[in-house]
Amino acid sequence: MARRSMIAGNWKMFKTPTETMALIKELLPLVADVKHRDIAVIPPFPCLYAAKEALKGSRIMLGAQNIHHEEQGAYTGEVSVSMIKDLGCAVVIIGHSERRQYFYEESGLCNLKIKRAFAHQLASIYCVGETLHQREEKKTFEVVLHQLREGLEGLTAQQLSAMVIAYEPVWAIGTGKTATPQQAQEVHNQIRKYLIDVFGPDAAQQCRILYGGSVKPDNIDELMAQPDIDGALVGGASLAAKDFARIVNYL
Ligand code: PEP
Repeated sequence: MARRSMIAGNWKMFKTPTETMALIKELLPLVADVKHRDIAVIPPFPCLYAAKEALKGSRIMLGAQNIHHEEQGAYTGEVSVSMIKDLGCAVVIIGHSERRQYFYEESGLCNLKIKRAFAHQLASIYCVGETLHQREEKKTFEVVLHQLREGLEGLTAQQLSAMVIAYEPVWAIGTGKTATPQQAQEVHNQIRKYLIDVFGPDAAQQCRILYGGSVKPDNIDELMAQPDIDGALVGGASLAAKDFARIVNYL
């Protein structure tokens, strides 16, 4: 079954609101003809309003990098799902490895966030992936399946089909090291099998699985040629309009 592919740019903690407007203005004409793929830009929270304004009239989706798992409350410094929805977000990243590493977010907490997002009809991009040490110990599948089991616990097949999973080997993020297309496909295939087992073939075939980890203009084509790679979550290369546009326009 053909899944609509998705290229999402995670800007991390880069770009001011002013720079956001400039980057989107530069990007829009470069991707204006792409109608058969989903494109998302995911700037930092303070840039969402500027991004929403700059994206008006385009079909690029807006996303946020995180949410708090509660509806609202006394959580200084946090951001709720209603807030990002009001700012026009159609998607939210949950469980990025930088949040797992620096903010001690675990898959159980990610599960609460994914459910909170769904309560507002917002789809998540749920990130999973192993560290270099875990790969060397041959624990890749064990780690990734554990993250899937805890993160997706209690979701319905219908919810799963609307979700996006991002396989992001931690050793490949921001390091310039990319998983080979074969390494990525192997893990994506295991993820798909797990989703089929738990949620059934229909939902599992609809759920998109993105690859993330030093995706660049010169490696996107061979990654996208793999049958279980449905798109890319792009960090560094999404900060330059020409590079991101070339990735969006993969062959
Ligand atoms: C990411 O931030 O999700 C990512 C994959 O970063 P990079 O492309 O820079 O490795």
